[in-house]
Amino acid sequence: MKKKINAQFIAVSAFAVVVTALMSMLLFYNIFKNQVFDDIKAYAHVIQPLNQELWEQEKNLQRLKEDGLRITLIAPDGTVEYDSSADKGQMENHGRRPEIIDALKTGEGMDVRRSDTSSLHTLYYAQRLEEGAVLRVGKDSENIFRIFFHMLELVLVLSVLIVLMCAALSRVLVRRLLLPIEKLASHLEDAALENIYEEIAPFIQTIQQQHEDILNHARMRQEFTANVSHELKTPLTAIAGYAELIDSGMADDKDARRFAGEIRASSDRLLFLINDIIKLSELDDADQEFEVEQIDLYQMAQGCLDMLDLQAANQHISLELKGRSSLLTANRRLMDELLYNLCSNAIQYNNPGGSVTLTVEPAPDGTVLSVADTGIGIPKEHQERIFERFYRVDKSRSKQSGGTGLGLAIVKHIVAQHHAELSIESEMGKGTKIIICFPRKIT
Ligand code: ADP
Repeated sequence: MKKKINAQFIAVSAFAVVVTALMSMLLFYNIFKNQVFDDIKAYAHVIQPLNQELWEQEKNLQRLKEDGLRITLIAPDGTVEYDSSADKGQMENHGRRPEIIDALKTGEGMDVRRSDTSSLHTLYYAQRLEEGAVLRVGKDSENIFRIFFHMLELVLVLSVLIVLMCAALSRVLVRRLLLPIEKLASHLEDAALENIYEEIAPFIQTIQQQHEDILNHARMRQEFTANVSHELKTPLTAIAGYAELIDSGMADDKDARRFAGEIRASSDRLLFLINDIIKLSELDDADQEFEVEQIDLYQMAQGCLDMLDLQAANQHISLELKGRSSLLTANRRLMDELLYNLCSNAIQYNNPGGSVTLTVEPAPDGTVLSVADTGIGIPKEHQERIFERFYRVDKSRSKQSGGTGLGLAIVKHIVAQHHAELSIESEMGKGTKIIICFPRKIT
């Protein structure tokens, strides 16, 4: 970036210097030309009253030559009557020279031409005299290219110097301009936005936000790994302990059977845990595409309640389905999972004799699902956190009922996958209601 800005700075300054040099050379040439014209005009005015014999004197002619001046007297018909540098007899008619035409017409005329005799440019000033003849004074000027050439050396040296100065200046400027950005790169977290150019503040904000998200994500992953290890350790330790007792032969037949039952319960728990972890990691995988189809949520809710019927009856809980058929686009397996997790929680955290009501209703822009129970309720301060992985309000109750602490985390992911919105209403001792609004189509 620095190199690019520097190069562009230098290119712009070089261009500016070249244009300025050319313009000033042109200006200089014009000033120079006007100055010479003014000079020869003054000469003409001075010599005009003098008589011709005076000009013809050898010493005056010599002086004129030294000054680079040439005097010509032209009759109104264009014939040359006198010329200080050439023989008038050999000179052609001057009536068609621009300065003479102008002088005859307006009283004076000027022209710049390459001289016939030398390669020099000659500036002419012509003035009409009272008797009608024209007095012309010419002055050889240095050739225009020679003037440019003389100037060019100086201009070139000056241009190179200016461009070098610009290059040095641009280095300093660019370094100073980019310093805050460079500082940022090394201290992104504690970069104060007010010390940054306002144009890049939004970028910094986004980068800082992403940086924070990455850190949070890493922290969550690390916490999750630690939690998973801890959760796996408990049933595995139990399995190892009971197996060791049976293996040592210390347990009689009756105990061995009991221990085998414990081993089985712990391995079931392990299986549930691993299944939930696999589901979560599937949902976490951003590349995973879930197939969607048209499903009737009411029909699926009925299927879920049928499956949980026995479990609810065992705990003296009644199940009810309300509402009517409602179609939506969703992944069947994930919707099954969501319904099962919500309903089994509603049964699990209920009171004996309580009820669970599932409602599926079509809404103007989709389908609303609600799962309401008459259970223990969730304290306000826990309501947001229960969707975190392994977060449980009452650890022993969850574990006792075989909960993994991952059910609602899975629900939250499925809700997000389907671009749905979830809300929770809960009152301690009265019950909990979880409401999810699904859009008709996933966009
Ligand atoms: P778990 O396997 O422990 O049930 P979940 O993620 O499904 O894990 O739920 C997290 C926690 O939220 C539970 O441990 C429980 O404390 C609380 N919870 C979930 N659903 C309900 C409910 N319907 N009523 C009361 N508490 C609930």
